[in-house]
Amino acid sequence: MPAEQMQFRAEVSRLLDIVVHSLYSEKEVFLRELISNASDACDKLRYEGLTQPELLGDDPDFRINISVDKKDRTITISDNGIGMTRDELVENLGTIARSGTAAFLQQVADAKKADVSQIGQFGVGFYAAFMVAQAVEVVSRKAGSDESWEWESDGRGEFSIEEADKSSRGTEITIYLKQNEDEFLDVERLRAIIHKYSDHIGIPVLLNGEDKAANQAGALWMQSKSDITAEQYKEFYHHVAHAYDDAALTLHWRAEGVIEYTGLLFVPGMKPFDLFDPKRQHGVKLYVKRVFITDAAEGLVPPWLRFLRGVVDSEDLPLNVSREMLQNNPMIAKMRQGLTKRVLSDLGKFASDNPGDYAKFWENFGAVLKEGLYESSEYREDLSKLLRCRSTASDGLVSLADYVGRMKPGQESIFYLCGENAEKLARNPHLEGFKAKDVEVLLLTDNVDDFWPAAVEKFGDKAFKSVTRAGEDLGKIAGEDKKEEEKPAAEGMSDLIALMKLTLGDAIKDVRATDRLTSSAVCLTSDEGDLDIHLERFLAQHNQIRNASKRILEVNPKHTLIAQMAARAKQSGAADSLKDVAWLLFDQARLLDGDTLTDPVAFGERLGAVLAKAV
Ligand code: ADP
Ligand code: MG
Repeated sequence: MPAEQMQFRAEVSRLLDIVVHSLYSEKEVFLRELISNASDACDKLRYEGLTQPELLGDDPDFRINISVDKKDRTITISDNGIGMTRDELVENLGTIARSGTAAFLQQVADAKKADVSQIGQFGVGFYAAFMVAQAVEVVSRKAGSDESWEWESDGRGEFSIEEADKSSRGTEITIYLKQNEDEFLDVERLRAIIHKYSDHIGIPVLLNGEDKAANQAGALWMQSKSDITAEQYKEFYHHVAHAYDDAALTLHWRAEGVIEYTGLLFVPGMKPFDLFDPKRQHGVKLYVKRVFITDAAEGLVPPWLRFLRGVVDSEDLPLNVSREMLQNNPMIAKMRQGLTKRVLSDLGKFASDNPGDYAKFWENFGAVLKEGLYESSEYREDLSKLLRCRSTASDGLVSLADYVGRMKPGQESIFYLCGENAEKLARNPHLEGFKAKDVEVLLLTDNVDDFWPAAVEKFGDKAFKSVTRAGEDLGKIAGEDKKEEEKPAAEGMSDLIALMKLTLGDAIKDVRATDRLTSSAVCLTSDEGDLDIHLERFLAQHNQIRNASKRILEVNPKHTLIAQMAARAKQSGAADSLKDVAWLLFDQARLLDGDTLTDPVAFGERLGAVLAKAV
């Protein structure tokens, strides 16, 4: 039967082009990628073999062979791992299975400004072979199957697939080197590459038929810390996390006592593109006594630490533990507690030892940690100490302890304001009264910020309070008001307020005079018992609530416009034009809060009418 020709999915050929021409600065990493895949394939079969020993047959010892043929100018990498079926060859090597393809291409499109190494996180591993290969041949036989298939491609637009006759299980990849890549035919060069990148891989790599492995082939996490170099940690991180950046934090510890396990975890230096994927999967692999079990152990890592990468190796779980048995397993829960405490305490040290790098970490993963503030009351206290926010008091990030230290006499609460971005928030009229009294306000811009303050309630004995509900608190705070000379409230204020209430009717809950504003004419606030404005809008967008509750329109009697309106409120015939202005002010307040207009046409008409009179 002739080989079947197939097209790569469109994205793949573009991707190949990028990988080959710009992704890696060092071509030698192709070998690391292929060895990494071979090692993953062995780990997978070792796990399957625990329950289906027949899959291992008479070949239970895993290994990776690398050989060079100088005459044909080929390198062959073969493993006796799990292998691939025909469909798996097509699926795994002909498409990019990861959900991130679109995100990847977007980043590539922006690659001129972004550092190209930033796109490494998208796991293009196998395709790295085409940096040095003019053609790649993959022959594979799935463990337990008696069929084998050959996949071949020159890495341009197509690949072919046809039946093969491989006699043993596993995968054999042959690289036909490009013209100028002869350096990779040198066995000593390959030995150096293996040593550099693949020393820690748990499977022996045998070079050109030698008996002795070219790598150390031990589980890195079982070695003692003092024997591991920074370079080895880094390479292991790259391998286990499919990452290419430098880890921000490396945690390596052994827990002894009631339960025994070893953890080697990394906090990535970069934010992965799928951090907010609703599935929220973590990246910590579970091993039992050096045997890989799964990279999706439910409950091993709290969802709000899902950015962690690495390995947890248990001494207590039975080796034949099935993935199903892991659910609700008390041993897993204990390890989760242990690793969570460990990570939080190390993050605390990180924050105090190295605030600059910690701020970078917080920009990447703070929004995820905040999920823990409302999900896990157990860790609330530790997490609130790790919390960093923007605030009106400084350009950088502040901690809650900093904030409390700066609170004013008479100030009982920690004030915050939620919105889309800190720059816009800083100009929000709600802040005027606080600025006038020099009271600091936290500016919160992550989606989760709408939830945690209500759940956490307090830091120490200080309650969290949104400034949209804190009008009355301001009065209690001592201190020089920085606003200009008190002007007496304009006459006619009560008439104006009555007129505005009548005009706006059902659109609002109430109209009140306020002293929280200094330069703005109006703002919208909520009553003590009502939801925070920003939270309510978030819930409405996610269809969690039907009817938004009504707001209170607060007017600033000292504002020139309001004072003039008040003066005219009593005059006969003025009511009509004041009505238009009342609506305009209401719409303006909504816009300033980041809301949209319910009726832009009416807004335009009123604005036109008012302007016509003014010109
Ligand atoms: P990643 O390793 O990040 O998943 P790769 O591009 O390196 O991405 O590999 C794609 C997929 O191809 C792997 O996830 C795996 O399913 C499959 N694969 C690659 N090499 C092998 C191999 N030697 N044995 C079995 N499967 C493999
Ligand atoms: Mg890979």
